[in-house]
Amino acid sequence: MLSVENLEKTYSSGDEALKGVSMEVSGNEVVAIIGPSGAGKSTFIRCINQLTEPTSGSIELDGVDLTGLSDGELRDQRRNMGMIFQEYGLVERLSVMENVLAGRLGYLSAWNAFRRDFPEEDVRHARATLDRVGLGGHDDNRADELSGGQRQRVGIARAVVQRPKILLVDEPTSSLDPETSRAVMQLLTEIAADEDIPVLINIHEVELALEYADRVVGLADGRLVFEGSPSDLDENA
Ligand code: ADP
Ligand code: ADP
Repeated sequence: MLSVENLEKTYSSGDEALKGVSMEVSGNEVVAIIGPSGAGKSTFIRCINQLTEPTSGSIELDGVDLTGLSDGELRDQRRNMGMIFQEYGLVERLSVMENVLAGRLGYLSAWNAFRRDFPEEDVRHARATLDRVGLGGHDDNRADELSGGQRQRVGIARAVVQRPKILLVDEPTSSLDPETSRAVMQLLTEIAADEDIPVLINIHEVELALEYADRVVGLADGRLVFEGSPSDLDENA
């Protein structure tokens, strides 16, 4: 379970991006964070993954406090959080398999990918995960040969192959057409159920949040302004 309490982030520029946000995410629920541009959605996800250092507040994953960790502890904890990015974050010149395995081996292991130095068991698990996301048979394609939707599936496979405790997803569909966006959201909900992990998704398209999320959290100006089921939000709209 992810438990965030009173998270605040003030950037050095003075921008108060988060002004005390608390939430819990557990089980295999899909939670969508919605809100206008500048609301703090991206800052929130980046604070959880410690890509950005929060100013104050606490973040616990399965009882482990993620704030104030040493670099080594942080590296271990990040493996528990599968991160999926808007622009996919793939290494374009590497193959699909290499991209997925670079994630499995940790953030700084692109070097292992270049050496194609992977344990057979990891390769088998990666291949099964690629099948699961609909990319069976694409192992050897270079990332830059793929469509946007296929790239995002590689990003999902790379996150899932680490066997994370939660998936953190930052605007997964911003670069995709509507049909591909829906397929990616559908896949994320299936992964939550299959892997029995929660999925926290930043998304600015409210329709997608309503269609695919179990719970919707609204942020505006750095504060939580709404929390409820998609049907609650529909009634308020
Ligand atoms: P959203 O994802 O909802 O669009 P962001 O988290 O990107 O919101 O931004 C929230 C606020 O924080 C905005 O005012 C934005 O300009 C500011 N902000 C975001 N990132 C930075 C940064 N790296 N440095 C300074 N201010 C930032
Ligand atoms: P997002 O798509 O998440 O809303 P943007 O496209 O606004 O983010 O910003 C892209 C990058 O610039 C992000 O890393 C964000 O943290 C950073 N950023 C956003 N706003 C500011 C700001 N006011 N000052 C400095 N950096 C910012």
